[in-house]
Amino acid sequence: MDTYDVAVIGAGPAGVMAAWTAAKQGAHTVLLERETAAGRKPCAEGVLSEALDDAEVSPTREFAAHRITGAFLYPPNEKKRVRVGGDGYILDKPAFLASLAERAGAAGAEVVYGARIESYSRDDGLVHAEGRRDSQPFSLKAKVVVGCDGTGSILARQFFPRRNYPVIAAFQYDMVNCQLEDEATLEIFIGHKKAPAGYIWIFPKGKGTANVGIGLKGSGAKLLLDKFIQEHSSLFGDAKIERSQAAPVPVGGEVEDYVTGNMMLCGDAAGQVIPLTGAGIHTSMVAGKIAGEVAGKAARDGDIGANRLSEYKNRFDALWGEKISTSLRALESFERFSDDELNIITDFLDGQDLVDMAHGFSPSKAVGLMLRHPILAMKVAHQLMSS
Ligand SMILES: Cc1cc2nc3c(=O)[nH]c(=O)nc-3n(C[C@H](O)[C@H](O)[C@H](O)COP(=O)(O)OP(=O)(O)OC[C@H]3O[C@@H](n4cnc5c(N)ncnc54)[C@H](O)[C@@H]3O)c2cc1C
Repeated sequence: MDTYDVAVIGAGPAGVMAAWTAAKQGAHTVLLERETAAGRKPCAEGVLSEALDDAEVSPTREFAAHRITGAFLYPPNEKKRVRVGGDGYILDKPAFLASLAERAGAAGAEVVYGARIESYSRDDGLVHAEGRRDSQPFSLKAKVVVGCDGTGSILARQFFPRRNYPVIAAFQYDMVNCQLEDEATLEIFIGHKKAPAGYIWIFPKGKGTANVGIGLKGSGAKLLLDKFIQEHSSLFGDAKIERSQAAPVPVGGEVEDYVTGNMMLCGDAAGQVIPLTGAGIHTSMVAGKIAGEVAGKAARDGDIGANRLSEYKNRFDALWGEKISTSLRALESFERFSDDELNIITDFLDGQDLVDMAHGFSPSKAVGLMLRHPILAMKVAHQLMSS
């Protein structure tokens, strides 16, 4: 049976980074992915440019061909739209992840597709993982296992209780022949009738293609997305659906514990997602980068206890902890506004205010809102302070 310093489970954004940085430490590293290729999970594939900077990759035509310059946010009545700036890309995520997995391989990690881990046990200071590779039983041992295996993480199920781990349902169509006004701008539609406690997105990929999806609390995602598409015939009159996919998105913030002796969770598995937007590519890559480095060094030094490995959580929290928890508060507030209130708030705010509001309400705008809509302003203030 093979024994590794670090075994990384899952070749999503977290895993391809963790395997790379662990291998760069000189740790004997394996990256195991259950699918036969990376990037099979549905995703709208949008990232800001800083995500690529943090991943230490330059955008290439191969995986970052479609550039974006911002987003339009539409309130429930769609009478006005607010532009929010931001440079980024709609990735070809399978190509992006394949390229980062290759980079991990070039740094010395063994990259194995078609290998599904099904259970873990602790054995003489090591973790013993068992599963199936190309349908045949296989097993391995590792000093540290980094669980980058997404919302359904088996490592989490066995070793981390994740008591507070709410997820929302996300459903997406890959569409062609869309008539989009500006293919460099994302479009986001909010409103509890359209997408209860969530939103509908159109992420253009160029030449009339787009990822069109919905994230919401509760059921009925497909029905509501179909209704939206029907009601927006100017955009989708000639469009065709090429593929539909669904997956959960964790929106409860970081789970209470995700590091213990020999083990760490990373990315979606640890709830490292921005709750208000459901964006998790950037956060997962940063988490993976830190986790792999810490795991690789710790395994090489022979100190793989919880204390040593918790350096990963401390470093991640210093970068993203506050942003994730303020975004969670903003999501809780957003859920409590009615569609009429969201119309008024959006009418009143500009793009920067919305960005500020995602991180806590803009105080200067609160004064103006107070003058024109005092009851709503008090509700905004009350909810933001009490959530
Ligand atoms: C519809 C949808 C749209 C989204 N759009 C965006 C967006 O535009 N921008 C953004 O930033 N975020 C978006 N997200 C969120 C983003 O996709 C995730 O936050 C991110 O992919 C998390 O990365 P990860 O590496 O933690 O997990 P994942 O991407 O889920 O990767 C986990 C990997 O582990 C593998 N795996 C699972 N179990 C096992 C096992 N037992 N053995 C071996 N391998 C296993 C899986 O096959 C998978 O490859 C979206 C999510 C959804 C569902």
